Amino acid sequence: MAGSRREIKRRIEIAGSVTMMHPEWETAADASGVPWSNQTAKDIKEKRRGAHRICTACQGTETEDNFYKVCSRCKNRFYCSRECQTRDWPEHKEICHATTRQKRFEKLVTSLLANVDLMAYLKIAVVLSLKLLDAIPISEPWSLLVRLGIEPENILDFARLRGDIDPVGTSEPLESKKMKGMLQINAICPCTPDFLDKETKIAIAQPKRTAADAVGFNWESPVGVMVFVLGDSRTVLQVPILIATPFMDIARERPPFTRTITVTKTSSTVPMTASSCIEYVNAIIRQDKPNRCLLRAEMSAADKKIIRNSGVVSEPLQEVTRTAIGYLKGRMLHECVYSACGNKE
Ligand SMILES: [Zn+2]
Ligand SMILES: [Zn+2]
Repeated sequence: MAGSRREIKRRIEIAGSVTMMHPEWETAADASGVPWSNQTAKDIKEKRRGAHRICTACQGTETEDNFYKVCSRCKNRFYCSRECQTRDWPEHKEICHATTRQKRFEKLVTSLLANVDLMAYLKIAVVLSLKLLDAIPISEPWSLLVRLGIEPENILDFARLRGDIDPVGTSEPLESKKMKGMLQINAICPCTPDFLDKETKIAIAQPKRTAADAVGFNWESPVGVMVFVLGDSRTVLQVPILIATPFMDIARERPPFTRTITVTKTSSTVPMTASSCIEYVNAIIRQDKPNRCLLRAEMSAADKKIIRNSGVVSEPLQEVTRTAIGYLKGRMLHECVYSACGNKE
């Protein structure tokens, strides 16, 4: 039996070693397989550009003399000319914004996930908020919803949008003004089944658990799933996270933070809680003016709308927008940086 299996393997190997020849090719190609045209990978890349892409608006086909332009926002649509792009814009607008938002969201979340310092405090916040220390041994994966927002990096722009102060010093309306923003965590809260059902949670967490066990972590290092949501967007990112024992230990000891208001040179001690960990993460992002953390982004109209309506509700809002505003307002109540902003209803 073993012999015949070996025999089959040998026959497969023999058949698999086939090469083919053609006289036309043979004349110019050498044994290393260089084709007669001497075309390189670079040549193919070059030629690929004129690869007969279709103009979204007029269905014209791309030629080598007229390389089509790609939509610079979403990089998902091609146009033969500016006229065609302009003509297609009303049609394309919605999906383009959605794609751009999605890409920006993924970029920001992956930057946050790649940041070991910020993630350390986010993990400690998970332990404290879900009371994981009381739940040891932890058999089931935990899950947590992380509510993100983009807000102006300049606190005065934040206050101007909300109407806490007058929009002085600018003739341009705030809505159309280019405004630098940054990622902030508005809330962490238990994850509801509409964001993550139990089967999905287990399916996402299991490979991480197996990998963690393989390198010597045990039940003292709980694995769970963070579900990231940005603003009032319905798009989510679900990420398996391991909380290694050192973070559990810090959460157990809870060394306090020091909060300093630099202008008045006053410092105070802030106990370590889930929300002070989040305040710390947000403050670090705010302090990162050179954008080393890559957590800054241009404020979009939707981002501004949430900030503006957190000050005064001026229009009927969708439920998702009201929810996003609610989380922002909740955070404003306990983060020091907002203590001088109004909390109007
Ligand atoms: Zn066209
Ligand atoms: Zn586009």
